[in-house]
Amino acid sequence: MKWAVLSDVHGNWEALQAVMTHLRSQGVERIAFLGDAVGYGANPNECLKLLREGTERMVAGNHDWGAIDRTDITYFNPAAQAAILWTAEHLTEENRIFLRDLPLLHQYHGMTFVHASPYQPPAWHYIFTLEEAAAGFAELAGDIAFVGHSHYPLILAQRPDGQVQLVPGSRMTRENGVRYIINVGSVGQPRDRNPDAAYGIYDEDSQEYQLQRIPYDIPLAQKKILKAGLPSTLANRLAQGV
Ligand code: ZN
Repeated sequence: MKWAVLSDVHGNWEALQAVMTHLRSQGVERIAFLGDAVGYGANPNECLKLLREGTERMVAGNHDWGAIDRTDITYFNPAAQAAILWTAEHLTEENRIFLRDLPLLHQYHGMTFVHASPYQPPAWHYIFTLEEAAAGFAELAGDIAFVGHSHYPLILAQRPDGQVQLVPGSRMTRENGVRYIINVGSVGQPRDRNPDAAYGIYDEDSQEYQLQRIPYDIPLAQKKILKAGLPSTLANRLAQGV
């Protein structure tokens, strides 16, 4: 089974459309979504509808639950807070109920899907360092987890002796006895200085993973953010991928 793993769409309809078009051309059979459908972008309801209908497995992110008052947003930066308040005002009742009922972690076919880390999912811990990855591996039930949250694509591996290391590059083939935590990057607001939308394709049969980068109509997404009255920094950063 070939999976597309998407995360952090953040209401960016143009990026999501481009990714959906691309994954259909790649023979993808199932889609998993790792949370943060909303927040930052101008099309939260449209993105949620598409994700609800098109994904096999979906978990909640901190912005999803922030928008329905299920998680604390006081630690969000001012632009993120403004976007959450805007999103909360604009979400349909149907989408609010849908977000409320999402789980934080899914295990399926030996894979774990979680927004932030397998270590204390409701605390939304970031995984940037090897130590943070080791904490995630310690709580990971299976051998492979897909995460988002940092908007920064990464592949981390834990060797049979417990040592955690970074796998360089954007692809890997699974090795026996090695466990993996893979950050698939962000569809709607990449932060690794590459503005192209990011998502991952994982093939359960060949056990290969490959990060994908997809250009999309950034000027249109920016125009909609400004027209909605959202902070201009949220439009500007899309062009830089920060
Ligand atoms: Zn996010």
